[in-house]
Order: sequence, then structure tokens, then C-alpha cells
Amino acid sequence: MKSLVVITGASSGFGEEIAKQFAADGYPMLLLGRREEKLAEVAKDMDNVMIDTVDVTDYDQFEKAIRKAEDKYGKTDLLVNNAGLMLLGNVQNQDRKEWQTMLDTNVMGVLNGTQIVLNDMRERHHGTILNMSSLAGKKTFVNHAAYVASKFGVHGLSETIREESAAENVRVMMVAPGAAETELLTHVTSKSALSDYESWKETMGGITLDPVHVAETVKFMYDMPQEVNIREVDIAATRQD
Ligand code: NDP
Repeated sequence: MKSLVVITGASSGFGEEIAKQFAADGYPMLLLGRREEKLAEVAKDMDNVMIDTVDVTDYDQFEKAIRKAEDKYGKTDLLVNNAGLMLLGNVQNQDRKEWQTMLDTNVMGVLNGTQIVLNDMRERHHGTILNMSSLAGKKTFVNHAAYVASKFGVHGLSETIREESAAENVRVMMVAPGAAETELLTHVTSKSALSDYESWKETMGGITLDPVHVAETVKFMYDMPQEVNIREVDIAATRQD
């Protein structure tokens, strides 16, 4: 039996496509998200899959779900910290609750998941944590201040944890995608930020990244031998600036 793969934010977008890649290769999985119906829909034709409704900002809930899956499938060998939110807006008038939600989900959620699996991985000298960052974790975009802050945070924390865990043979990886049309933008409340996004999209011919290609990249990175760590991949539509 292959080792357990845990994917957060598996109810849509990148997470859903990543789950499909690993299911096709026969991995036992734990798929996490807050919407049970969506998770059940993703998992319906997959074997050896558990789903659990977890908010990644709730450490105890998150840990309980992972331990339950580990009781059934063995220790987690891959955690994909993919759950995230992008609430665009200007700092001068954005609701501060949106900043807090993004920082809690995009940063604390990643730290929570990492702590839950890292000790076992270090003890076993085997395991991979892959954090979903963004090109907004490397460069700035207007209307993205708090999101950029969260994703620069993901870059910083991932590289720190990689350095701390390299000697224990644990891999910490990052994927930094460009724009892709998932459910991400559906949570944006600022009409002007959405309209700015649509204008920007036109500059790249309206073509964004297909989430399938992000998922294939994640699978390729994980499939390298444990002794090889593809630390980071930036992937975007060719026309994105
Ligand atoms: P989606 O909105 O389609 O997916 C986000 C996922 O995160 C959903 O499954 C959602 O599930 C889950 N999620 C959100 N908040 C929480 C929470 N508190 N606890 C648990 N799960 C949560 O967007 P994407 O697939 O695009 O986003 C996935 C990741 O990719 C994010 O980290 C995003 O920042 C990043 N990214 C996306 C880009 C894009 O252009 N689409 C570009 C670069 C990076 P549920 O609602 O069921 O909880």
C-alpha cells in the first residue's frame, strides 16, 4: 500500500485536481475542506479516500482528522497545504476582517498542518510538505496587499522549515502559481478589485493557467526520490507578465 497523502482545500480548484492526480496513481488520501458535499463529490469515484470537514485554522480539528486517517492508512507521507483565500481590496478601505481571515487561513493554516505532521516525518527521516504559495508570494500586485503579505509569509516560513528539516531528510516544497480561474475570486467583495482583475486578464489575452497543470506539477515534484527536493516551482500562463 502506498503512503498517505493529505490535501487541504480539496473541495475545489487546485486541491481537487491534485486529489485526482494522486487517486489515479492509487494513493490513500485524506481530503480536507469545510464543505462536506463538495468533498464527497470529489471523492465519489475514488478508492481509499477519507474526507473530513476541517477548518485549517482550528488546530485540534485539523489534528484529529489527520490522526484518524493515519490510524487507517499509516503515517502521512505528503501533506499538501493548499487551502487558501484571496480577498482583494485596497488597504485604505478594505474590511480588516478580510485581512485577518487571509492571514489566519493562508499562514496559520500552513503552520498548523506542518506542526501536526512534521515530528513524525523527522523521526522517520521521510516525508514531504508541499505548500501552495503564489507568484504573489514573490512579487507585488495592486489590490493584493494582505494576500501578498500572507503569501510572502508562506515563502519565508517554507524555506525556514526546509532548512530546519533538511538534515532529517524531510522535504519542504513550494509551488507558486500565477492566475488560474478556480473558485478563488468568487469570495472577493470589492467590485473595483474584480474589475481591475478583469482588465489585467485582458493583457494576457484572457488566458489563465489550467489547474490541471498545477496538479501535474505537484505530482511530478512528489514523485522525485526522497533524496531530491524540487524546492520551488513557479508556474503561470505563458502570457502572464
Ligand atoms: P479555490 O477557492 O477553488 O480553493 C480553495 C480551497 O481552500 C477550497 O477547497 C476551500 O474549501 C479551502 N479553504 C478555504 N479556507 C479554508 C479553511 N479555513 N479551512 C479549510 N479549507 C479552506 O481556490 P484555488 O484552488 O485557486 O486555491 C488553492 C490555493 O492556491 C490557495 O492557497 C490559493 O491562494 C493558491 N493560489 C491560487 C491561484 C489562482 O489564481 N487560483 C494562484 C496562486 C495561488 P472550503 O470552502 O470547502 O473550505
